[in-house]
Amino acid sequence: MLGNFDYCNPTKLYFGEDSLNYLNEELPKYGKNIMLTYGGGSIKKNGIYEQIISILKANGKTVFEDSGVMPNPTVQKLYEGCKLAKENGIDLILAVGGGSVCDYAKAVSVSAYCEDDPWEKYYLRMEDVDNRIIPVGCVLTMVGTGSEMNGGAVITNHEQKLKIGHVFGENVFPKFSLLNPAFTFTFPRHQMIAGFYDIMNHITEQYFSGEDDNTSDYISEGLMKSLIHASRIAIKNPHDYEARSNIMWTATWALNTLIAKGKSTDWMVHMIGQSIGAYTDAAHGMTLSAVSMAYYRYICPYGLNKFKRFAINVWDVASDGKTDEEIASEGLDRMEAWMKGLGLVMNISDLGVTEDMLDGIAKGSFPMEGGYKVLGHNEIVDILKQSM
Ligand code: NAP
Ligand code: FE
Repeated sequence: MLGNFDYCNPTKLYFGEDSLNYLNEELPKYGKNIMLTYGGGSIKKNGIYEQIISILKANGKTVFEDSGVMPNPTVQKLYEGCKLAKENGIDLILAVGGGSVCDYAKAVSVSAYCEDDPWEKYYLRMEDVDNRIIPVGCVLTMVGTGSEMNGGAVITNHEQKLKIGHVFGENVFPKFSLLNPAFTFTFPRHQMIAGFYDIMNHITEQYFSGEDDNTSDYISEGLMKSLIHASRIAIKNPHDYEARSNIMWTATWALNTLIAKGKSTDWMVHMIGQSIGAYTDAAHGMTLSAVSMAYYRYICPYGLNKFKRFAINVWDVASDGKTDEEIASEGLDRMEAWMKGLGLVMNISDLGVTEDMLDGIAKGSFPMEGGYKVLGHNEIVDILKQSM
């Protein structure tokens, strides 16, 4: 049964090659002080920075630069951003980058006027936001996370060896996001394929939960088919606009709350992957790919019907004369072959994980209730061992 839900997604999207022009429509809605937030400099190399600065200047804005947002943004950087935003009375945070920059911008937006320590209030205690929120707009340059149209904001605390995502409510979603598929042409192959798997895993995290006949799952199957098809083209020709635009659009729908409506969800791979990220600082998508096969093979018997459906509907596995277990297993084999074909990292030792880290990684992987099996500590350690 489709469960009860409410649905509102307040982010306005502008999609296409001319999307940046629409900054001229959005900027007049906000005050003068803009915090231009970006990463380690890719936007300076590919010319996006210059284009944005000239649009900001043409709109009479005062620009406060907040650069150096690292992949997997840290709590120290969050504190710096909060100080900059508060001291300068920032009216809009314009995030230009990938999931890390967009997530960080949302974290600053809720934390700048937080009177408590935001890490403790919003990450350790997971409280709701009750202070002023600075609006955020995004110019997306890296595809995968869906951060451009959701309330997620993942922050890493290296001292505490914790990487935690808070999924904030609609009031924290970006007010607008500009998506130009051509901006994604320049990111390195390793990042591109990590993003492809982040998208896939966002969908499977929501799909592998529950037994109900649910429209959201049919939408998920369509999104997965589109991603698999387009990723095979993009890997051969990263400049294929058709493939890259379909992947960009799929990434947004994979994690903008739609496919979770009316159903339960899992998120255990992200829990384990984020914990690996706190230890290794590896690309997010690779932390997910490296544990996925061990995890899905482990939980498959507990959600056999869904894994069988996945094999048939997503991977076109023929069902005649085979047991349910064989069909389900063939589906997972095909997913593994697709992942290897993309060149994803398939084990955690390749990310720098060593035996002595496994216990700590398992402790930082908060168990989820919505999947086919609630995992205990030892089961997570076993899955990590399988992933070595
Ligand atoms: P990212 O960490 O934002 O970016 C990775 C790298 O790609 C950076 O080094 C960046 O370089 C580079 N890059 C970005 N765009 C580029 C371009 N057009 N050309 C060349 N290089 C480019 O990657 P991401 O996968 O999008 O974000 C990962 C973060 O999002 C993780 O912290 C993850 O936990 C989080 N996440 C959030 C959600 C959510 O729901 N909000 C979901 C999943 C994951 P520069 O720094 O030089 O720009
Ligand atoms: Fe993710």
